[in-house]
Amino acid sequence: MILALMLVSFLAGVLTHMALARPPKADAGLTYIEEIPVYTDYIAEGSRARPGGQREIKYLVIHETDNFSEGADAKAHSSFILQNANAEENIVSWHYTVDDRQICHHLPDDEPAYHAGDGMEKNGGNLNGIGIEMCVNEGGNYEQTLINTEKLCARLLIEYDLKPKALRKHQDFSGKECPAKLISSGRWEEFCDAVEKRYEELLAAEKNK
Ligand SMILES: [Zn+2]
Repeated sequence: MILALMLVSFLAGVLTHMALARPPKADAGLTYIEEIPVYTDYIAEGSRARPGGQREIKYLVIHETDNFSEGADAKAHSSFILQNANAEENIVSWHYTVDDRQICHHLPDDEPAYHAGDGMEKNGGNLNGIGIEMCVNEGGNYEQTLINTEKLCARLLIEYDLKPKALRKHQDFSGKECPAKLISSGRWEEFCDAVEKRYEELLAAEKNK
């Protein structure tokens, strides 16, 4: 009887461990984050903007589009990135674009991309980061975009078993002032704190499942 109880408790422990320690995966496969839809439309394999290959995910690299035109939202950037995937020069690519009502997903999370301006440097932003662009377009609600980005980041930290200290600015890799509005308004720390708070909440919810 005692042996049976020990076996049951051992199996329960194993199952709990399996539930918490998720195996690595190619992509988080997000379709919604709370009420925010995530639309996936990948850059074609073999495109110049999609170098391919797998890497270890170490960072979430935050950017702003710096495109203040009306209508320059996540969908517009999804069209841009798909249309320019084989451009002759200035090849750019990243994983997610966030606006005030949706998220567009352009590359599997575990593939490198060209957003951090540091080539394929070891431990660099392109090689090891998930690139996340925040829209700053006229007519968009930047504060809501920030909240949506916080939620995406918290979710990705959980999915890839990262800590909030994995958050990086584009600036950290290449020196470019990006995310420009967030940096110039002195709100980077505030953003990181907000992500950490949401991450802790998600973590607590996962443990209580
Ligand atoms: Zn940037």
